[in-house]
Amino acid sequence: MKLSFKPFELEMKHTFTVAEFSRNSTPDVLTQIEYEGLIGYGEASMPPYLGESIVSVTKFLQKVNLEQFPDPFRIDDILTYVDSIEAGNPAAKASIDIALHDLIGKIVNQPLYKLWGLNPTKTPKTSFTIGIDNPEMVRLKTKEASAFKVLKVKLGLNNDKEMINTVREITDVPLYVDINQGWTDKNKALEMIFWLKEKGVLFVEQPMPKTQIDDMVWLTEHSPLPTMADEAFQRLPDIVHKINGVYSGINIKLMKSTGLYEAHKMITVARSLGMKVMVGCMTETSCGVSAASQLAPLADWCDLDGNLLIKNDPYSGMLVIDGKVTLNELPGIGIKKL
Ligand code: MG
Repeated sequence: MKLSFKPFELEMKHTFTVAEFSRNSTPDVLTQIEYEGLIGYGEASMPPYLGESIVSVTKFLQKVNLEQFPDPFRIDDILTYVDSIEAGNPAAKASIDIALHDLIGKIVNQPLYKLWGLNPTKTPKTSFTIGIDNPEMVRLKTKEASAFKVLKVKLGLNNDKEMINTVREITDVPLYVDINQGWTDKNKALEMIFWLKEKGVLFVEQPMPKTQIDDMVWLTEHSPLPTMADEAFQRLPDIVHKINGVYSGINIKLMKSTGLYEAHKMITVARSLGMKVMVGCMTETSCGVSAASQLAPLADWCDLDGNLLIKNDPYSGMLVIDGKVTLNELPGIGIKKL
């Protein structure tokens, strides 16, 4: 097996603003694993606030020697080796995991969801994300998102009610809200959640800073809506050690979980603890988004719109049809190079 990679800058359609930051592009690295004439595609997307960069991913990938593995089906051996090279680097590791899974699907000529025994019609609707903005822009973006049957509204600055009321002028579809750690007062947070419930919100994602654990335990206990962890965890052991008893559920993203192999296990563990499961993404190409979509039949909710936020997607893959994550019959992660 031969690994190759190249940097790629994802250009955003709109400036993207959440409680923590604002940006126009996202650094990315595209990977390929070649084996006996077949190519598996992968990707590392690195939103700057997570600490990885094109430099760190390149450095990591330069250390990876896949030529020592003659059999691509030894996923456990291969990914255990990749994980052992250096701590951290979840997106870099995901870029290998995704390409390896794509390759295996291509070798047996089946989509991953079939290899996992999943029913492709059981995928949830996906949300489309509305970033924090002035009412005029929020109205425009909400109108542009009319094909989606659920929206994810970013909150946590100082205009939460204005954001929701503006979206509600345009549409009555169900909403997710993502606070990105923006609320620091648990009593105000609870009051706002009761208000949001009346406005047709289904859950609140990462309402408080990940460090305010006692406040979060209290909030989850009293909240009339499920609380979903995002920034508060990354990998499998975190579910037991950081999330269980603190949040109602988890937002799994391949760029945090080191890819599909661990994400699949995370869903099993979360379910065994009675948690809600959401499959999300970063700003990514159709490569990362289509890979994550293979797990969508196992999720309660999906937020798989990352490829729709960029204007230079080099692949086509999973499509959103009538608001629903729609898996295709292509092998592996289900993408074609454009
Ligand atoms: Mg989030």
